[in-house]
Amino acid sequence: MGNVPSAVKHCLSYQHLLKEQLWIGEPAIQPPAQELLTSGFPEFVKIVEVGPRDGLQNEKAILPTDVKIELIDRLSKSGLPVIEVTSFVSSKWVPQMADHTEVMKGIERYPGVRYPVLTPNLQGFHSAIAAGATEVSVFGAASESFSKMNINCTIEESMDKFEDVVKSARNMDLPVRGYVSCALGCPYEGNIAPAKVAEVSKRLYSMGCYEISLGDTIGVGTPGSMKRMLDSVVMEIPVKAIAVHCHDTYGQALANILTAMQMGVSVVDSAVAGLGGCPYAKGATGNVATEDLIYMLNGLGINTGVNLYKVMEAGNFICTALNKKTNSKVAQASFSG
Ligand SMILES: [Zn+2]
Repeated sequence: MGNVPSAVKHCLSYQHLLKEQLWIGEPAIQPPAQELLTSGFPEFVKIVEVGPRDGLQNEKAILPTDVKIELIDRLSKSGLPVIEVTSFVSSKWVPQMADHTEVMKGIERYPGVRYPVLTPNLQGFHSAIAAGATEVSVFGAASESFSKMNINCTIEESMDKFEDVVKSARNMDLPVRGYVSCALGCPYEGNIAPAKVAEVSKRLYSMGCYEISLGDTIGVGTPGSMKRMLDSVVMEIPVKAIAVHCHDTYGQALANILTAMQMGVSVVDSAVAGLGGCPYAKGATGNVATEDLIYMLNGLGINTGVNLYKVMEAGNFICTALNKKTNSKVAQASFSG
């Protein structure tokens, strides 16, 4: 327990931490079977860290390339199984990601860690491959207006582009992840029909995406809308292929994730320090913080393989570089004072 930050003692007693083991995620005392909180929950949750891409691309201050590389290297050491590195979009659209090739080539790749990158079209895909990417993601939407505003084409047109990317990737045996943004609401259209989310998810899955990440891009969802949406999506694709991606704008992210896990979802996206937002969704705050997610999962006795303290240190590093306060409640409680 040498890793417990001293500031933690401000809010939780050391003895309490020793008992709960919330920091390292190894249950010290096995509770009797009837007390297990995890019945109905997955035993292991795969955390997909999206801070370096989804988080940073929405931060206004353009970070130096070496800071991005150091952030990813620090996250790699924490035990995170998947770290989304960057996006191969035009720098005209997303200036923060203009150094995608340098970042991809500069990071140290840790054994067992996967490093997907976002590739919106074939051109981006080829650049990503040239930079050494071995896994890619495509980014669709369940809202027609959002698709037009965010990727400048209709949902149908976007699917054609993705089809090209997925085909090329599958020909090279590379896994492709699909995103569905606005799954629980859209800044332009408001509510989104669960059937529409299910339709787009099915399309991406049938195309060959191995995992579909359902994004509450503007963070308006509640456990109720999450359940209704998932009820619809699991009719079309296996629950094992579903990931949830929750922003915390209305403070519902952890509750929404808990609901998804109760329904069998075992893949969750999050961003260190709760970085990010969305330039097309006014007022949207960042993703749920990886630190807060791990803290909750550790408390439930759900294994993630991730060292919370190391993620907190990475969060501290990037917030210092950005000169901003962390959005992680766990980090705020632990490093304050
Ligand atoms: Zn996001």
